[in-house]
Amino acid sequence: MKRRKSYIFSSSVMITAGIGILLGIVILVVNFVSRIKTSSEGTVYTGASIGNVLYINSYDPGYIVSKFQLKGLDEAMSKSNILYEVMYMDMLNYDTRENYDNFYKSIKYKISVQKNKFDAVIVSDDPALGFVEQYHEELFPGLPVVFFGINNLDYARKVSESPFYTGSAEEIFVEDTLEILVEQNPKAGRIVCICDDSVTGLGDIKQFARAMEKYPNLDYEFLNLNRFSPPFLSKYLTEIPLNSVIVCLSSLQSYAHFNGIGDFELVDFITSYAKKIPIYRTHIIGIGAGFVGGKIFNHVVSAENAVKKLRDILLSHNLENIPLTYDKQGMFLFDYSVLKKLKLNLNAIPDDAVFVNRPENFFDVYRDVILPFVLISVSLVMLLIVAAANYTKSKRINSVMMIMNKRMRQTNKDLIDSKTKLTYVANNDGLTELPNRVFGEQEIRHIMHSGVPFSLFLMDIDDFKNYNDTYTHACGDFVLKEYGRRLSKLTQNNEYFAARYGGDEFILVHKCGHIEKNGKEIEELKKLLDEPLEYNGITLDITATLGYANSDPDLSYDDLITNADIAMYEAKKEGNGAIVAFMADMKENMVRRNKIMEIIKDECSSGGFEIRYQPQVFAGSGEVYGYEALVRLQNHPIGPGEFIPIAEDSGFITQIGRIVVEKVLAQMDVWRKEGMPLKKVAINYSNGQLVDDEYVKFLKREMDKYTIPPELIEIEITESLFMGKKERASQLFNDLADIGVSLALDDFGTGYSSLSYLTFVPAKKVKIDKTLVDNYLVDGKETFIENIVHLVHDLGMKLTVEGVEHKWQYDKLCAMNCDYIQGYFFSKPMTADSVPQFSVGV
Ligand code: C2E
Ligand code: CA
Ligand code: CA
Repeated sequence: MKRRKSYIFSSSVMITAGIGILLGIVILVVNFVSRIKTSSEGTVYTGASIGNVLYINSYDPGYIVSKFQLKGLDEAMSKSNILYEVMYMDMLNYDTRENYDNFYKSIKYKISVQKNKFDAVIVSDDPALGFVEQYHEELFPGLPVVFFGINNLDYARKVSESPFYTGSAEEIFVEDTLEILVEQNPKAGRIVCICDDSVTGLGDIKQFARAMEKYPNLDYEFLNLNRFSPPFLSKYLTEIPLNSVIVCLSSLQSYAHFNGIGDFELVDFITSYAKKIPIYRTHIIGIGAGFVGGKIFNHVVSAENAVKKLRDILLSHNLENIPLTYDKQGMFLFDYSVLKKLKLNLNAIPDDAVFVNRPENFFDVYRDVILPFVLISVSLVMLLIVAAANYTKSKRINSVMMIMNKRMRQTNKDLIDSKTKLTYVANNDGLTELPNRVFGEQEIRHIMHSGVPFSLFLMDIDDFKNYNDTYTHACGDFVLKEYGRRLSKLTQNNEYFAARYGGDEFILVHKCGHIEKNGKEIEELKKLLDEPLEYNGITLDITATLGYANSDPDLSYDDLITNADIAMYEAKKEGNGAIVAFMADMKENMVRRNKIMEIIKDECSSGGFEIRYQPQVFAGSGEVYGYEALVRLQNHPIGPGEFIPIAEDSGFITQIGRIVVEKVLAQMDVWRKEGMPLKKVAINYSNGQLVDDEYVKFLKREMDKYTIPPELIEIEITESLFMGKKERASQLFNDLADIGVSLALDDFGTGYSSLSYLTFVPAKKVKIDKTLVDNYLVDGKETFIENIVHLVHDLGMKLTVEGVEHKWQYDKLCAMNCDYIQGYFFSKPMTADSVPQFSVGV
């Protein structure tokens, strides 16, 4: 609403301003046209001329009186359609007989040659009238003569008695001038009247005398120029008291000419000596040259009146009805600068007075222009104000828009930022700051799409669970971050791409080409990934295991991941820090492995599994010492050597461990019930079972359940149990010792075997693995086995030798003083049913 109002307001202001400008222009044009018209009026003749007239001017065109006269005459002539020609006698400058005669000759010549005869003669001032009178008959026979500007009334009257002459006499306005003088100079003590004895001068004095009667109280003094030579005149003027006022009558011409100076030189002369005294004037000469001014004869009107008479004569061809007249029209003419200089009261001067030497009144000069100028200016100012207001408004709007734009840009930026953030969060893993699995897959698909061969690695941090459990989760995070950093470093030269695959697994892509099985890249990777790490002052021997697969156009992303996964599985088998390339047969293994895992899963849930028992005999006597319980799948011909590692990897081993315990103890109970004297049974314990905290409790419960004495149970562990969680392992040993169950160190001589383990493992028995028997119980190498036997015995432990298949092996081992023998030579693992018979039978 407010906006609409301001819009209406500014629109109406603009329209008004527009109208104002238009109006101003129109007025300007109208004034201009009318000025052209006015200025051309005097020279344009309309209609046919009523006559051809000769105008004889007594003086010259530069003389001020001549100018006024010509102005009035020209305008009137053109209005009356009278053609005229001017001839100047120039009697002011050349008041000589010669000039006079030359003028006569000039006219005479002109008349003699001219085609267009004059119909009348018009003359101004006394010399011209005198001339025409003298040569009337010769030069202008029968032509009517109109005169004007004649000072001498008597002369004028006399001339007009002739039938050919009429005109006007010049009246002077002494009375009016005196009136103004008195008003402007109320304290004037004396009025000095300058006069002369010329025809004009005498006429003036007559009039002045009449005017004096109106002011009888004033003190008058007459200064007749004809009585003074210039030096005396100057003296006289100088001595005029300051409270006096001068009135200058007469035309001044006769005195000036008599003394050989010009009219204006005389005016200068008078003013220079009567310096501070106001000099009023009744004739035009002197006003504008130092005199104050006064009411003078109006030469313009006088000329106009003369032309009117002339017109009547030309139209009627009769002079008789046109009498001599006295021109009564006067004009107040004042010198503005003199008035100001003498500080004379301007109010005493009538409104219609004409001023000379007046600084041009701006309004007078530009009257025509002022109104339109003001109109246009005001309109323009209005426009400017509206424009400025609009500009300010638009500026304000602009600034608001700018702020809004800025905000919008910021909002946009924020949106983009948050989008970027969201994208980042969506695409990246918060912990390691690597791309996450989903984004990683996208990238790998891009890489695949490019067609460049590449290698895809799956990486698993070795024993990661250990860092998490043994130390803290913070440590686990620290390790993960470190691997994130190491992989990021690897991606810096754009040779690799890395992402977190999940948990402690990472995915790494060598983007430029396949990696050879033992290529330099493998070494570099190992070096980078197996670098030990410092955490809270502890050095962590971190390593990572990698499996990788090379790209193949026929393989999908999933195929590649599977292949790398298979390779990693193989690498895990090789041990920490291994990097293994995928091979075609690995896949078959994997398939089988998966199949086996399914079977394990089935048997775990259905309580499958079967236990075979392999006898252990005393070396030498061959009597049964005990049995080793060896687990079997119930319905599949897959041996534990294959499925136990799979069960370990997949976590089923803990379940299997308990199932075996349960079955073995239940079986012992059965055997006992069958009357078989119970022998010691060794049960295998896998590293994977260490996570089963309650294992020992479970074992104890089962033993109690079947009231099996702990001396009849032996747990077989492997030395690798110490390599990981030592504390857990020690705990296990203690727990087992607590319930009275003994330990045997299985598989001695394989893997990381170190004799030093023997010193701190609380085992009572060591089992030498079949591989040792196969490799060392041959000619020349027996001492190695012999030394082990001695060492074990020295440590107060017993020794079982596994995998004895032949008699010579048995004999040799007996000779070496081994304690127990286990092997096919005596029996393969047998079903529980066969055990009582075997026990008795041997
Ligand atoms: P192990 O603990 O070393 O078990 C001995 C393995 O050697 C048994 O194989 C046994 O049948 C085999 N063996 C014994 N004497 C001979 C011989 O003269 N010649 C040959 N060729 N082999 C002989 P089995 O039963 O296949 O068990 C393989 C492995 O599976 C075991 O090795 C053990 O590590 C694991 N295992 C078996 N049963 C269990 C179990 O109940 N629990 C756990 N955790 N592991 C088990
Ligand atoms: Ca064993
Ligand atoms: Ca073994």
